[in-house]
Amino acid sequence: MKKHVVLYKKLSPTLMSRLQQHADVTLIDEPNRDGLARLRAALPHAHGLLGASLKLDAPLLDLAPHLEAVSSVSVGVDNYDLDYLDRRGILLSNTPDVLTETTADTGFALILATARRMVELANMVRTGQWKSNIGPQHFGNDVHGKTLGIIGMGRIGEALAQRGHFGFGMPVLYHSHSPKPAVEARFNAGYRSLEALLQEADFICLTLPLTAETQGLIGARQFALMRPQSIFINISRGKVVDEPALIAALQQGQIRAAGLDVFEREPLPHDSPLLQLNNVVATPHIGSATHETREAMAQCAVDNLLSALAGERPLNLVNPKAWGMRVSG
Ligand code: NAP
Repeated sequence: MKKHVVLYKKLSPTLMSRLQQHADVTLIDEPNRDGLARLRAALPHAHGLLGASLKLDAPLLDLAPHLEAVSSVSVGVDNYDLDYLDRRGILLSNTPDVLTETTADTGFALILATARRMVELANMVRTGQWKSNIGPQHFGNDVHGKTLGIIGMGRIGEALAQRGHFGFGMPVLYHSHSPKPAVEARFNAGYRSLEALLQEADFICLTLPLTAETQGLIGARQFALMRPQSIFINISRGKVVDEPALIAALQQGQIRAAGLDVFEREPLPHDSPLLQLNNVVATPHIGSATHETREAMAQCAVDNLLSALAGERPLNLVNPKAWGMRVSG
């Protein structure tokens, strides 16, 4: 008998038919209020779940007594309660690597857009305000040759360092749990404490995961260490930053600009003070959002789920403890 999979993200026809060859599939198109009710109704029969951008907490997953595997179409796993999944022996998998380069492209787009004031000045043209040659009040700052500071030197951090070092001749500084000798050799990068990096870097880029340890990592004290010319870029998760402290730092000129792909609350409320600031470039969580990369992520997620439901260890298993329980149990 086929196992039952609940999808809370639409797949391409090719991937959908591949999944349907192996499983009975219920598609919850949008996890809005109606979708959530349909998801709850489908959970009692689910052996596998596949989707993203939805908090799957214990009260919800308690509705799924047969659940064997959750396949997240993301690299970040902050929407899942790992202790809970481990306790129940539910395998969690994610989609690293396939999104690394695209997310680093997004980070670099934000670096260029903020430093060169691309959105603000493009809007000036669009709204008919370009009436004479621009002067120093519209100038931006150079990117090439400036110091790139990366907080979280993992896959995406490294891809950002590659762009900065080889493409733009930027000295690279980084902060991570532990020093990375291979990264230092490849990009001539220097390890710094968090405080030293905040003081020295021209561009401060967050590329670490949201965890209990990183939640609120960058707040008023950290913004106070940055320089008035510093540009802050967040392509990790909104909650790594104390957003009111970021707003205050921008309003008070403690930092020059911010490029933000992620926010404390998403979608970003339209009355957010961030949207009143010309020196903020805000994008709607588009880190990995290209046709090619989203398809590659979905394919990776389908592969992970099918392996797990076939009793195999998924390639991108996040919680080996649950696998250990399954093997020993
Ligand atoms: P990764 O390879 O696991 O890299 C994360 C790095 O962060 C690791 O090198 C780790 O350091 C470091 N780190 C973790 N906690 C830290 C802490 N408390 N202090 C300092 N460094 C810490 O992950 P990745 O594939 O690069 O992805 C990183 C994150 O980007 C994801 O978790 C996700 O939240 C976010 N992301 C966002 C988008 C988007 O759409 N904007 C897209 C993709 C990913 P060690 O190696 O030293 O342990």
